Amino acid sequence: MAIASINPANGTTLKTFEPLTAERLEEKLALAAKAFRDFQKMPVEHRALCMRKLATLLEEDVEDLAQTMMQETGKPLRVGREEIEKCATCCRYYAENAARILAPEAIPTGTGKSYVRWDPLGVLLAVMPWNYPFWQVFRFLAPALMAGNVGLLKHAPSVPQCAFAIETLTRRAGFPRGTFQTLFLETEQVEGVIGDPRVAAVTVTGSQRAGRSIAAKAGACLKKTVLELGGSDPFVVMPTGDLATAVEVAAQSRTVNSGQSCIAAKRFIVHASIYEEFVRRFARKMGSLKVGDPSREDTEVGPLASAQGLAEVERQVADAIAAGGRIVVGGGKLLSRGFYFEPTVIVDVPRTSAVYREEIFGPVAMVFSARDTSEAIQIANDTDFGLGASVWTSDPAEQQRMVSEIEAGMVFLNAMVASDPRMPFGGVKGSGYGRELSAAGMREFLNAKSVVVA
Ligand code: NDP
Repeated sequence: MAIASINPANGTTLKTFEPLTAERLEEKLALAAKAFRDFQKMPVEHRALCMRKLATLLEEDVEDLAQTMMQETGKPLRVGREEIEKCATCCRYYAENAARILAPEAIPTGTGKSYVRWDPLGVLLAVMPWNYPFWQVFRFLAPALMAGNVGLLKHAPSVPQCAFAIETLTRRAGFPRGTFQTLFLETEQVEGVIGDPRVAAVTVTGSQRAGRSIAAKAGACLKKTVLELGGSDPFVVMPTGDLATAVEVAAQSRTVNSGQSCIAAKRFIVHASIYEEFVRRFARKMGSLKVGDPSREDTEVGPLASAQGLAEVERQVADAIAAGGRIVVGGGKLLSRGFYFEPTVIVDVPRTSAVYREEIFGPVAMVFSARDTSEAIQIANDTDFGLGASVWTSDPAEQQRMVSEIEAGMVFLNAMVASDPRMPFGGVKGSGYGRELSAAGMREFLNAKSVVVA
């Protein structure tokens, strides 16, 4: 795929970029390795100053950055601003907490003095997607740089200007040259970077296909990976849950970022006693959402990020109907320029169909009926993925069962699944492994060095 900014609101190509030549790539790898030698020794307080400055720059440039995201991904401006503000919050979280997370831990072993110290690993490669072109990168960048690691970013080919803006921001924030670089690479060039001895580890956010391929290469080189590979999150509504709020949040969670979020609710599992009522209200809400021009402040759902993304969602909806599914609202692309798809609710999709097992990356919800708690949990777990789950019930015993039996990295009771710099973020099963954010995310790329002084 060419490295190009294409405006999803009208399909216009705004700018194209050339991938790095072998010589330029070599220069950048050499620079990263050199930068690490000094950067790992920079006091954490000094790194925190740069990180705080980075937060301030994000806030100062919020309008321009939201514009860039809108032009490359179709993300509504309002949503883009929120993303930039969240990145600033993440920078401040790690500026404030890195010293605590990195502090040596004394462990009494009966021999003199024993402790664990946390050392950076080196140059880290981040392979990132287009759906949250800043947030996905910042949740890697902030802990990595605060730990003294150095970052290389291979961003999705559709967001080159976002990628370039991130590198520029880190330089303006005072991070030394080479501590964070964007690499414009074609897919085939990534393997060489993973295999390069100067690269210590890799983090990937994207599809299972990307995760498999990158982890296989990294595994062959004995390099650590963290994989965040999306999900098909269940949204479970039980009779004691607040139905009115659940309906509002269900629509919000399915259409967040125009439906292109790994933690968006994708499969709605509703107790049989409230199923008809839920479907009626949910379809009404989904049908009332304002789809349109991402530059308008009142737009709730913008275009999908690419023509391929739109074609894939159209194919999945057609497959769902062919398998026996019934559309309650929406169901088609909007006949205008740009990659718009209607918020859609589908019922009766057989659990034996292929599309039932797929992640739908667009504003399309499938709703299922469950006769009791056990069946709701069974359907929730009937997926290859295991990222997040949102469960609506006020029955304490049922809450406990859901929390312990749902196979996911995150369970939110009576709330929408969302990332927070203070909480670990990641999944189980086909959603990948490892964690981002919080102390757990920072420690993924640290060497827990055990030291014993006899
Ligand atoms: P991809 O997984 O293909 O892309 C994500 C990133 O991985 C991009 O930078 C991509 O770059 C890179 N990549 C992909 N394959 C390889 C490889 N073999 N070696 C090195 N880098 C690779 O996602 P798509 O954009 O194609 O989206 C497809 C589907 O993936 C979506 O519909 C959705 O289901 C899922 N997805 C999940 C996301 C999440 O948040 N977890 C985010 C985005 C997508 P390049 O294109 O240059 O190869």
